[in-house]
Amino acid sequence: MATISEMVAVPQVKQTECFIGGKWVPASSGKTFETINPATEEVIAQVAEGDAADVDLAVDAARDALENGPWGKMDARDRGRLMHCLADMLEDEFDELSALETLDNGKPISDARAADLPLTIDCLRYYAGFADKLHGQTIPVRGDYFTYTRREPTGVVGQIIPWNFPMLMVAWKWGPALAAGCTIVMKPAEQTPLTCLRMARLAQKAGIPDGVINVIPGYGPTAGASIVKHPGVDKVAFTGEHLTAQTIMKDGAQSLKRFTFELGGKSPNIVLPDANLEAAAQGAHFGLYFNQGQCCCAGSRLMVHDSVHDELVERIEAMNRDRKLGNPLDPATQQGPQIDQAQLDKILRYIEAGKQAGAECRTGGQRFGDEGYYVEPTLFTGVEDDMAIAREEIFGPVLSVLKFSDEEELVRRANDTMYGLAAAVWTRDIAKAHRLAARLRAGTIWVNCYDVFDAAAPFGGFKMSGIGRELGERGLDAYTETKTVTVALN
Ligand code: NDP
Repeated sequence: MATISEMVAVPQVKQTECFIGGKWVPASSGKTFETINPATEEVIAQVAEGDAADVDLAVDAARDALENGPWGKMDARDRGRLMHCLADMLEDEFDELSALETLDNGKPISDARAADLPLTIDCLRYYAGFADKLHGQTIPVRGDYFTYTRREPTGVVGQIIPWNFPMLMVAWKWGPALAAGCTIVMKPAEQTPLTCLRMARLAQKAGIPDGVINVIPGYGPTAGASIVKHPGVDKVAFTGEHLTAQTIMKDGAQSLKRFTFELGGKSPNIVLPDANLEAAAQGAHFGLYFNQGQCCCAGSRLMVHDSVHDELVERIEAMNRDRKLGNPLDPATQQGPQIDQAQLDKILRYIEAGKQAGAECRTGGQRFGDEGYYVEPTLFTGVEDDMAIAREEIFGPVLSVLKFSDEEELVRRANDTMYGLAAAVWTRDIAKAHRLAARLRAGTIWVNCYDVFDAAAPFGGFKMSGIGRELGERGLDAYTETKTVTVALN
């Protein structure tokens, strides 16, 4: 157990205004909103509440930077160099940024340091390397013509992100956009604006020209919807819930924007009878409880063969009993609070629904403490396919264990969901693992591992888990337009 002296100091909040055209400005309306520390329920800071008027200014600044500023004329290699500079600045402020992420989001500082910051930096560096490698093609067409393609920036891109991995979502969005030469209007989640604003400051310090990155903190239905509806925004990249994505698609239809959506899931994590049970238990636990269960790809349906069910459940129960909940700034803390009161209430409603439906609550099942939005690590067994806790995205530390006995039945049940973001298989039979990987309808399949992310590996969903892919080379597709040029040779 950490002593008080090992506790990470509460970081200073420096940026709370809108960032438009390289300037820090209050919202045009003068309104602000509170950002809350989910561990204490106390107000951290008042943040500018941007809306349509601020989005208009930000889109103008982004358009100007694209068409008239140095960014549009800059050598691609220099764009990459500036992105590396931004990554360097993040490394320099590693401790402060991880503490700020923990303060605003509630994630354990050990997770912010081990996962969020390194992945954020890695993603920016990965895409920095692509800036000068966006090649077109030469095309052998009929006749006496020379035809080639150019990959040009899609233009001004709107980026709307959630609260579960605030900095990492910035990197997933800024990385490909900057590499492709786009300019950006971003709206961070209302719960977690602070690290995004700090990153905008660092981007400016790194030398990324004014107007290339604009940040409008505020609410979804006002600031977010204004970005989506704005005729001057060429593309919207969104991460969040599928219901919000449906609204965004309708709102963006008028201007026929390009969309990429990275949405939720109810991912099956499958344990076959021949699995290494210790590894599978660790993977099942991490796959669900990491980040307080607030992961789009959380392995929230643990599907376990009858023959190993009891032993696996006992191992997970033991891990839950040992789990240390507490102040997220304490390096010894393993689980922090949920993001806000609404999420806490939603999770507790699902837990109640699970109990009412007849599932057995083996650990947890209630709020932890009476300050902060903490939920005990909760484990349900005896979960049936039609229960709400087996079908709907809970986005909290609630693991549903389902039994299976037959592999054909398993594949049908695993795929019987409107989602298709991720799945995992635990087995020592490599042929079986590949067969299942091919049959599971999900964008990412992990075999004998979970939540392995890399900037180079594409990520995104089948079905209602999304449209398009982020990360990897494919992640650049939505940020470039292909232009075909044909030249008569006689
Ligand atoms: P949302 O999908 O509503 O929010 C994601 C982002 O979209 C936020 O920045 C939000 O703004 C913004 N937004 C909301 N409405 C609109 C709109 N009409 N137009 C444009 N932007 C909009 O998720 P929530 O944070 O409300 O969480 C709700 C549920 O979604 C959670 O319980 C969880 O199940 C799921 N979720 C899934 C995530 C994933 O990665 N798959 C991530 C986060 C949540 P604002 O900040 O004001 O909400």
